[in-house]
Amino acid sequence: MNINEIQRRLVKILGEDKVSTDPVTLSLYASDPVSFPMIPEDLSKKFVVVMPSNIEEITEVVKLASRENVPIIPQGASTSLALGSSVISLSALNQLETLKYGIIMFTGSMRRILEFSKTDRYIKTEAGVRIDELNDYLDNNDTGLFFPVDPASSRAATVGGAVASGAGGLRGARYGTMREWVLGLEFVDGLGRIHRVGCRTVKCRQGYDLTRLLVGSEGTLGVIYSAILKLWPKPHHILRTLFYSERFIEGFKTFLDIRERFGVPLIAEYLSNRLVEKIRETTGIWFGDGHAIITDIEIEDLSLVDKFSKEIESILARNNIKSYVIASNRDPDFEKIYFLRKSMYPSALKTRKMKYIITEDIVVPITKIPEYVEFVETLRRKYERDIEVGGHLGDGNLHPKLEGDLDDPRDRDLVMKIGREIALKAVELGGSVSAEHGIGTMKIDLLIEEFRYRGSEASIDLMREIKKTFDPKNILNPGRVIPIER
Ligand SMILES: Cc1cc2nc3c(=O)[nH]c(=O)nc-3n(C[C@H](O)[C@H](O)[C@H](O)COP(=O)(O)OP(=O)(O)OC[C@H]3O[C@@H](n4cnc5c(N)ncnc54)[C@H](O)[C@@H]3O)c2cc1C
Repeated sequence: MNINEIQRRLVKILGEDKVSTDPVTLSLYASDPVSFPMIPEDLSKKFVVVMPSNIEEITEVVKLASRENVPIIPQGASTSLALGSSVISLSALNQLETLKYGIIMFTGSMRRILEFSKTDRYIKTEAGVRIDELNDYLDNNDTGLFFPVDPASSRAATVGGAVASGAGGLRGARYGTMREWVLGLEFVDGLGRIHRVGCRTVKCRQGYDLTRLLVGSEGTLGVIYSAILKLWPKPHHILRTLFYSERFIEGFKTFLDIRERFGVPLIAEYLSNRLVEKIRETTGIWFGDGHAIITDIEIEDLSLVDKFSKEIESILARNNIKSYVIASNRDPDFEKIYFLRKSMYPSALKTRKMKYIITEDIVVPITKIPEYVEFVETLRRKYERDIEVGGHLGDGNLHPKLEGDLDDPRDRDLVMKIGREIALKAVELGGSVSAEHGIGTMKIDLLIEEFRYRGSEASIDLMREIKKTFDPKNILNPGRVIPIER
């Protein structure tokens, strides 16, 4: 069946205003932050965008796609950095290519808060609610609660996309990732069957844990309609320290000392000296030069600011750190420092010298971070290529940013070679090729290698079987995470 006929049937299910093959609209939904330099061709003969409003509409669309064997690409805000939410994929030959045809299912217009209980500390939302919107709702209603998972893209990222990509973020060290905060889900599998799994409680045993299986499944096992999310009391007050060191290792030791004294920080973030420069160039925000580390510690009462600031200052002095700012959440610099950190990716993007920028997403045990940072520096010199390291120091999740021209076959091969070394070094150090961005189409080979390295290839077979069980026709985000034959 051609896409025009599919569109006609979709209009019957959803109505005209929720279905589009308009080339401009399609081009907006076609790419993601990695693939956006690819100018999308006219996609109107191959793709259709749908914007369902409820679970029944999702079900009907999936049933149609299943009958007619048409791929569905579930999409939230399409901020994925793993090439997983757009029509553009990385092929087995390392080429960026447009998928053949399909339905882009945008779940971002379902934006209702469905339930909230302050006493039971949960909130149930539709998939399209933005992470920041969720926290704004909790703030505006003076609940004293918050949702702690905080990807740097939180203003745009949707609940559905964050669940499906298993997102983490700045507060990972203290609060973990989506996996720890999703209590239940409503989703539609590849045959159009509705599932309501999980509970409104922290304790909940329901046989195999289908809720957690969906977290991080990247749209390949089901389309998420709603999520029940655990909430937590907001920290009373926060003391934020931004400090600069000439060499990374001095900053790292200082971070360990702060952690030793105050416990796991609410956030502990790192920006290389060159990223600090790039952020200054693009945002004008500047507090100092060198490798920057930001730590947040929780304080019960603002009267403790002076006491704790003095303790932090003595830790900084002991480590020979001279350039720093300490700000409580009442201080104007507090938000400015957060903004500085959140500008890491946009600044790297704006100042890039080459066409594409690839954000790697490895994780290593905290003790291995210095060795890993040194390794990336070696790669930088060896390949004479801009690779900048920043990321979540507190949980060992670093995001080396690598520039390249993926349209040029020779450069693409080099970028892939460097990316491979970046990822596999993490595995060698006891970590993983992906911490929070997911596999998408960028890391399929690396994931398989990681399991091979651990002598666990059977796990890949098991994952293929899981995919076939949830989606026997292989219509949900095919070719992503663990590809199976269509
Ligand atoms: C500037 C920037 C900073 C970022 N910082 C972080 C960070 O700190 N931590 C982090 O973890 N990530 C980060 N990311 C990556 C990304 O933003 C997050 O993973 C985010 O949670 C994705 O949400 P989204 O709504 O954009 O999902 P999308 O990008 O639209 O989708 C992500 C994946 O989920 C699937 N999906 C989307 N919606 C659904 C649904 N309803 N049902 C089933 N599957 C679905 C898609 O098919 C895709 O595989 C960052 C990205 C950018 C651009």
